[in-house]
This record gives sequence, C-alpha cells and structure tokens, in this order.
Amino acid sequence: MNSGLQLGKYSIGVGDRFAHQAKAQLRASMRAVAEGVDVIPVWNKSNREHNIVGSEPASVRQAAEAAVRELGWTRPFHVDADHIGLQTVDRFLDSSDFYTLDVADAIGRPADAADVEAFVGRHPELIGTIELAGLDQPLAITAERAAGAAAKYLGAVREAGRIYRHIVGKKGSGSFITEVSMDETDLPQTPPELLVILAAISDEGIPAQTIAPKFSGRFNKGVDYVGAPAQFEEEFSADVAVIAHAVARYGLPANLKLSVHSGSDKFSIYPAIHSTLARSGAGLHLKTAGTTWLEELIGLAEAGGESLELAKEVYAGALAHCEELCKPYATVIDIDTTRLPSAGEVAGWSSERFTAALRHDPKCAEFNPHLRQLLHVGYKVAAQMGERYLAMLVASEEAVSRNVTFNLYERHLKPLFL
Ligand SMILES: [Zn+2]
Repeated sequence: MNSGLQLGKYSIGVGDRFAHQAKAQLRASMRAVAEGVDVIPVWNKSNREHNIVGSEPASVRQAAEAAVRELGWTRPFHVDADHIGLQTVDRFLDSSDFYTLDVADAIGRPADAADVEAFVGRHPELIGTIELAGLDQPLAITAERAAGAAAKYLGAVREAGRIYRHIVGKKGSGSFITEVSMDETDLPQTPPELLVILAAISDEGIPAQTIAPKFSGRFNKGVDYVGAPAQFEEEFSADVAVIAHAVARYGLPANLKLSVHSGSDKFSIYPAIHSTLARSGAGLHLKTAGTTWLEELIGLAEAGGESLELAKEVYAGALAHCEELCKPYATVIDIDTTRLPSAGEVAGWSSERFTAALRHDPKCAEFNPHLRQLLHVGYKVAAQMGERYLAMLVASEEAVSRNVTFNLYERHLKPLFL
C-alpha cells in the first residue's frame, strides 16, 4: 500500500498547549540528531485541548514552522490532528498533515453478522497457529475468537475508513500520514486482536503508518506506568511482531509502527520498549503532550519571584476546581485528594519545594504524584489567565525552555532511542 507522505522510523509527538515551546521541543530532537539518531518531531494537539485552551489548529502549525525556521531544522516535521473523528476533523484540514483517527468509541458497536461472516471467510489465514518472526510462542486463534474480534472491531475500523476517506476527499491521498487509535477505551487489545484489526484496516484500504492500541496496565496522566513492566514487554514485543507480519501479509505501509500514547512519562516501561526496538529493528511513535506543560510550570516556579507566584496561583485554581478539571480525564487519572496540599501550604513553598513536588522524579521524597496529576489536567486555569500567563512564559523563557528541552531529551528520547 503506497502511503505517499511518509513518517520516519522514530518520531516523537510533542504537545504544546500554549504554543510557546516549539523551539525548546525541537531542540530535543536536534540533540538526538547530534547523537546520531533521527527523531522526527510531530506537534500534536487534540480537539479537546483546543477547546479547553481556546486555540485554533492553525496556531500549532504556525508555532512549529516558526521553530523549524529559526533553528534551521532541515528534516521533516509534522502537525498531528490528534484524536479526531468525523465530527471534529474539519477544522484541522488546512493545518495538519498527520491525522489520528480515534475510533475507540466505535469499538463493540454491533457489526452486521453477514459482515463478520464475510470477513472471516475472506481471512482463513487468521485461524489456526500463526508463527511470527521474533516470537517464541505462535499466536493461536480459533475461528470463534477471530469472529469475536471481528464482531468487536469491524465497526471501529469501518469508522476509521469513513474518516480516512473524508480527509482524502478534501486533501487528496498521499498528502498526509494516517494513525488509527483505539487507546481511549476500557479494555486492552490483545496481540491476536491487533492482527485481526490490521487485516481489517488493510481490507478498508487505510494506509495506516501508526497504530495506537490500548496496552495492558494503567497510563495515568503525567505519572509512571501502573502495571507489571515484564508483562508489558511481552505484549509490546508481540504487537511489534504482529505488525511486521501484517505489513508483509496484508500489504500495509512498510513503515507501519506502534504509536504509544504515553499520557506522559511512562518511564518504567521505556527500557522494555528500547530493548524491543533494538532487537526487532521496529520503529516507534511516542506521543506525549502534558509533560511539556508541566515543565512550563516547573520553569516558572524555578524562575522564582512573580513567576513562582503565578505557578502557585495555577495550583490554587486547579485545587479549587479539582472536580471539574478531572472530569474529562476521569479514566486516566488516580488522584487521592487527601494527598493534595492546601493552597495555603503551597503559598509558603520556595522554588525548590514547588519544583520538587512537581518534577517527575519518583526517587525524590518530596515528589507528589497527586499534585502532578492535578496540574496535568489543570491547564485550563492557565488558559483562563490568558495574556498574563503567556507574558510570564516569555519573561521566564530561559528557565522554562531549559526544563522543556531537558525533560524531552533526557527523560524520553535518550532512554527510548539512544
Ligand atoms: Zn491517546
């Protein structure tokens, strides 16, 4: 399947809620290049983020292009319309060249029995024992299981097809990168299910270059993975083997790879990802977003003075509106509100104390994952400050951008790709 515009082997999705950190983010990719590894930057922002911040998709491309121009980046970069559907994609048509077709809501939507039967009939190769290169255990799929997976996922893949064709109708085929995402749902997709999904994606004619399944374990916003890293590694490497198999068997784009929607900072599974990529030669797209916004706050707190006061004000505002801010993210955060310090207590904190509580250093005794998760979803408070917040970002740019670059490079790119 010819996909036209191609995504590089390694890529990093960087979210920039307030469109002020594109240069700092690009510097992380430039450092990776200097160390010998190309990591293509992709600026992603979902419709949900745009609505909460009050921004328009064009602002993401403008910020990315300005950064690329100013820093002289000559490799590709992309702008991802993250988690869009038929209802939300249109506002992204002019500014994006990467579309994440989110069809999680369509999972389990009852598929036509005749459709399921036709799919299984068309794919006898899915049934039985399937040996996959790089996997000790073959996949074993019974006819019942294949039909069950088809019934569960065919509707979602069809929906992805509708969105894909809608974009093609407006932009032309080959002019954009397609991701299919199913991560924002309750149950993980198993490797055999992923194979069924990929066969269906091929049938649907979607030249997917990245696929974002839901993995086992919890991917809470802004904090580390909750689950057994060894089990994740098994699942992740099986998924990588399934993708290589599906590319060869179903003619999907040769650069098809996994997209891990990290929810920021899944440090404990990075070694498993790194070793699987090294062993298999597979590529990866790692999507982050909120981790950069939290580094903005850390930079502001580190700068001290008025900037620190503003960071404290964001926390006080987030605490006061905790319930409302957490609601859209309820399935991806675990906040124990009894562990949240009062606004009064935080008001007395030094720069060091504030950054120690917020910075994602699990070994630090003062690190507070509850406060970090609340602030992760609390960007609406900063958005409502408007110009006052943005002006402070500019005033404290040195501290903010230093933290943004350091975080992306040292905590994400280096452990994953170098
Ligand atoms: Zn996602």
